[in-house]
Amino acid sequence: MPVSAAARKDYNEGVRYYTTKSMNGGTTFKCALCEHTVTTLDFNSLEGNRRTQAATAMNRHAAVLHFPARTVVPAKLGGRGAL
Ligand SMILES: [Zn+2]
Repeated sequence: MPVSAAARKDYNEGVRYYTTKSMNGGTTFKCALCEHTVTTLDFNSLEGNRRTQAATAMNRHAAVLHFPARTVVPAKLGGRGAL
């Protein structure tokens, strides 16, 4: 039984440097490279999708702390079918 290549096809949002975990009332985003975490509860839903804000924060964290040589925060974040 061949391993499906489709199993590697996650969301089409590029490389992620965090993992997510659902908790009561929110989602915790943990950096894959250190112990830094944020939760969706840290963000104001009035400012947009909280998961998007948390993901953006984590990507920025990784860019600044772990990949300072290429501090490029892609502007295409949140391009996943804006409402
Ligand atoms: Zn980190």
